[in-house]
Amino acid sequence: MLTEMEMESGTVSKRGIEIVKGSGAHIWDAGGKRYLDMGASYGVCNVGHCHPRVVSAITEQARHLVHISSSYDNPARRELMERLLEMTPGTGGRVFLSNSGTEAVEAAVKFAVHITGRTGLVAAKRAFHGRTLASLSLTWGPKYRKGFEDLLPKTTFVPYGEIEPLKEAMTKDTAALVLEPVQGEGGVHVPPGDYLQAASDICHDKGALLVVDEVQTGIGRTGRTVAVEHSNIVPDIMCLGKALGGGMPIAATVLQEGLGPVARGTHGSTFGGNPLACAAANATLSVLEDDGLAARAESLGHRFLQGLRALESPRVREVRGVGLMVGLEMRRNAGPYLRALMDRGIAAIPSGATVIRFLPPLVIGEEHVDHTVAAVQDALGPDQPGGATPGS
Ligand code: PMP
Repeated sequence: MLTEMEMESGTVSKRGIEIVKGSGAHIWDAGGKRYLDMGASYGVCNVGHCHPRVVSAITEQARHLVHISSSYDNPARRELMERLLEMTPGTGGRVFLSNSGTEAVEAAVKFAVHITGRTGLVAAKRAFHGRTLASLSLTWGPKYRKGFEDLLPKTTFVPYGEIEPLKEAMTKDTAALVLEPVQGEGGVHVPPGDYLQAASDICHDKGALLVVDEVQTGIGRTGRTVAVEHSNIVPDIMCLGKALGGGMPIAATVLQEGLGPVARGTHGSTFGGNPLACAAANATLSVLEDDGLAARAESLGHRFLQGLRALESPRVREVRGVGLMVGLEMRRNAGPYLRALMDRGIAAIPSGATVIRFLPPLVIGEEHVDHTVAAVQDALGPDQPGGATPGS
């Protein structure tokens, strides 16, 4: 029998572990070993694995209608659009539903170009916005872009968190500035408190749209429903994905009032707004609100950051984060430490070569945070620089 690794395109870095079950903050492999899922499958399972309300919403919806094209109205889809417009800062205007983060960004780029009649794009160094061509044009990392540059719309990249270079980069040809409120894949970088406000002001001055990519930061992750709430700005376009569907693939591009409607046929998606995914998203947003998960992310995030900072290991360069979006930058390759954590039953994820990233389900408890801090301490090994390699 062929393994997944032997059949898969080769694009995925596989861990060689088969996961067969998930519940709350935990996942189980085929041999029955339990792991604390401190990566929530790349920040998807914010309400935990198989949340009973999400499972029952999917089951119930599947009994009535699994799919109907968005040419027809559907109650689950209408409810989700209403919720998205309500939870998005500002008055909210129009919603485009799709299936993944990169599609949400792809739509945002097309809408911005269409609305402004301009084609220039500005994004940040270290940004990650996806791997399809328009999104990839905004993704900074050479490892993602190599070989595809000729196919990508031109983007001007500016240092993340710095205001002056941003002012210079934005011109009368700029359709949109695209930013993550906190950079995730780029290594968990939190910008200065006034950055998004300044970015928003510059966009208004230059007549460009501000697109905020909340694919990773949204749905309670940073201690607010969406991370822009930390800075009170109202983005022109907001992208959501990952955790929105409680594990089901769904994403959204939300346009501020006055920016839509977008001309018919400008964009589209066969599966976008699929009722099953919408029902799961409605249940996810209810759980987020009813269980106060954003506030929980904020307080547990403080505890987690404090715990990690208190380790003061010479192997750690820096601990960064906000809410339950936490990065531990090592002085050398993070791979062996990630494996050492996995051996200790903690599934974390990488962020570039040297950063261990934690994006746990927001339903974890203090005991899980403390357990993870203790496991990190153990995985770091003896305190002297150049000490034992973790896992050895
Ligand atoms: N934007 C951001 C900020 C992301 O973190 C990601 C995924 N890591 C994407 C877009 C792309 O999402 P997807 O993998 O669902 O296409």
